[in-house]
Amino acid sequence: MNFNEFELNDRLAVAIELKGYSKPSLIQLKSIPLILEGKDLIGQARTGTGKTAAFSIPLIERINTASNRIQALVVVPTRELAVQVQNEIRALSKGQGIHCLAVFGGQSIAFQVNELRRGQHLVVATPGRLMDLMRRNNINLSSVKTVVLDEADKMLDMGFRDDIDFILSNCPRERQTLLFSATMPDEIKRLASRHLSLGHVFVNVSEDRLAVEKINQFFVSVDPKKKVSTLARIVRKRHMTKCLVFCRTRRTAEWVARELSKRNVRARSIHGGLRQNLRQSILKNFSTGRIPVLVSTDLLSRGMDLSDISHIINFDFPKERETYIHRIGRTARFGKQGEAITFCSNVREFEEMERLKSLIQSPIKELKEFAS
Ligand code: AMP
Repeated sequence: MNFNEFELNDRLAVAIELKGYSKPSLIQLKSIPLILEGKDLIGQARTGTGKTAAFSIPLIERINTASNRIQALVVVPTRELAVQVQNEIRALSKGQGIHCLAVFGGQSIAFQVNELRRGQHLVVATPGRLMDLMRRNNINLSSVKTVVLDEADKMLDMGFRDDIDFILSNCPRERQTLLFSATMPDEIKRLASRHLSLGHVFVNVSEDRLAVEKINQFFVSVDPKKKVSTLARIVRKRHMTKCLVFCRTRRTAEWVARELSKRNVRARSIHGGLRQNLRQSILKNFSTGRIPVLVSTDLLSRGMDLSDISHIINFDFPKERETYIHRIGRTARFGKQGEAITFCSNVREFEEMERLKSLIQSPIKELKEFAS
């Protein structure tokens, strides 16, 4: 099966080819025809399996360029993801006279207002900035035909729930709603159905095996006081080319990066407290390999397509099981190999590790050589 069978317009087909996509992934195969038909859907698929293109391709196909009004709205939880989705849509809509803009906090609102005035067909937004623009009457959503919630479980979670209610209640009632995520707890699924039409479809290609099979997963028993020195040893010994380290707080992320640098390991930290420009430049240096170790909060745990990450290290144990899956999903993207190592430093974390093992049904082995 290739993309031709979706009967997409020629220019879109060319853009897909230029992007280097020759065959649709499973989530694309299953959801593109349903979205083209206008169905509401929940799409659940493992991270790194092409979810962004699964909704972007049909959105682009359905844009009417004779109008310069916003016809599709994609809501995402973080600024980085907004930029990434915008880039994917721009690449896939190349040469088709389609305008796509990402609006997010941290960038000049005047610039975004100006760009909106010029006319956009698709807007990718984080909730906070989108609501600002709505309250200021700087964005007109009255022609929106499709709304996508990416990382939908996060978007419907407590922190964002009211924002999403507000945004959706200000979009036309007659619309198509699409929800995509790698994880979809039952409670969130129930909540989600409030926003979907009765005939919505649930496309689940995660095959109940939540963790990505290509990831070799390990845990290490670490004395809480020796976490940084253990991390430095692991980074050196396992020849990590591109390693993403997850911490729970901004302060820990900064501290860990500093301590690594003191031990001659080149590292930077990234978190939501940094200016947007700085965040973008750190991400760029990480993706080109200039920064081999990036220490992050959960800002980067979702959706981000950071290419060729060889290792994920959970310096701090993830708070929720879903977070573990999202974090380790930053490696082994699109069929590549990867390794994830989780530090366990107290009884609760060991117990949680046992639960994780049974949940994801794939082995998480102990790395004894680094134990302390
Ligand atoms: P996503 O799950 O959307 O973050 O996508 C993960 C990666 O897969 C991105 O680097 C995409 O560019 C890539 N990708 C998406 N669809 C395809 C496809 N059909 N063939 C090859 N690569 C793809």
